[in-house]
Amino acid sequence: MAENLNLFTSTQNVIKEALTKLGYTEEMYELLKEPLRMFTVRIPVRMDDGSTKVFTGYRAQHNDAAGPTKGGVRFHPEVNEEEVKALSMWMTLKAGIVDLPYGGGKGGIVCDPRQMSMGEVERLSRGYVRAISQIVGPSKDIPAPDVYTNSQIMAWMVDEYSHIREFDSPAFITGKPLVLGGSHGREKATAQGVTICIHEAAKKRGIDIKGARVVIQGFGNAGSFLAKFMHDAGAKVIGISDAYGGLHDPEGLDIDYLLDRRDSFGTITTLFENTITNQELLELDCDILVPAAISNQITEENADNIKASIVVEAANGPTTLEATKILADRGVLLVPDVLASSGGVTVSYFEWVQNNQGYYWTEEEVNAKLHTALVKAFDNIYETAQTRGVNMRLAAYMVGVRKTAEASKFRGWV
Ligand code: GLU
Repeated sequence: MAENLNLFTSTQNVIKEALTKLGYTEEMYELLKEPLRMFTVRIPVRMDDGSTKVFTGYRAQHNDAAGPTKGGVRFHPEVNEEEVKALSMWMTLKAGIVDLPYGGGKGGIVCDPRQMSMGEVERLSRGYVRAISQIVGPSKDIPAPDVYTNSQIMAWMVDEYSHIREFDSPAFITGKPLVLGGSHGREKATAQGVTICIHEAAKKRGIDIKGARVVIQGFGNAGSFLAKFMHDAGAKVIGISDAYGGLHDPEGLDIDYLLDRRDSFGTITTLFENTITNQELLELDCDILVPAAISNQITEENADNIKASIVVEAANGPTTLEATKILADRGVLLVPDVLASSGGVTVSYFEWVQNNQGYYWTEEEVNAKLHTALVKAFDNIYETAQTRGVNMRLAAYMVGVRKTAEASKFRGWV
């Protein structure tokens, strides 16, 4: 809990610092320091054994001055109000960084889908949509996948929404299966975005990706596809991990084998005996470290022991603010979460555009558009960091918050 509060207050602190650097008044901070709307819903679900369990769900809408709010829904036992609020603010920043016509939103349900049957997850997903149907919609607030949610869950959700609205409404949610109006490239989009950032960061540091030693914490949607992309690009993925531990091979792990064996929650290390801890994994000798799992992993306790010269945050909030400063002082190039993990929402935007226009693009077209958008975002933030003499996180917040702040100003809200 304290950690989540920390996540929320540290997000507020950096937003405040960014707004001050950009010359905005205190009133702008008052507007942007919290979501405009925060909904809490209770969802009764009939369980397989005949009992009823009531789940708590949230939807936060940070700010819709620049467009409808947009962001994923996570299913996780540790979901809580503070976290959902912070995550909705990060979505505003991501949309600003990539210049998407959205504000930030985020949802979550306190549950453990790993312990639930498919039927129970389906009833919970549909119940959540019924509970929030009034406040979401293709031009209001557009959900998407996040931690432990996937295209099947998006499919149940869009089906429920279309029933309630009595018309086919694919643009209500993104991350859908292709046959329901999903976009090519959406599933791999977060990992693609991280890969683009890694290539750009490596160029800045004169590191050749071929032969570079990469460590990835997490083997879920982002981590697993990323391991594959890095491996295919000729890098040596020497460490990966899941929630239970890590695998290390200085000669490079057999990624194809591991991908083949992982389960749908990204679990892989339970099949092995010689595992290391997640803490040991983060401190491995490597060139590029990618925390792609959960928040608060690089802290002031271990920031001095990180050996990588580039840290790319594929997860949301893996590095604390204290650790950000330590890494910056040590000359480590940190690509912050709001930039590195923005590939997902970028292709979600492409999915929404395709749904609205009813004309669909090829995977090559989607990937080319994603590449253009993220290289531009990376350059913009890197330049801002250089010219304003700030670290990459503050630079990303400055670039990210500007669009919503300007839109709020033009609307006369501040
Ligand atoms: N959940 C992802 C994120 O945090 C994707 C959100 C979206 O596609 O709207 O960026």
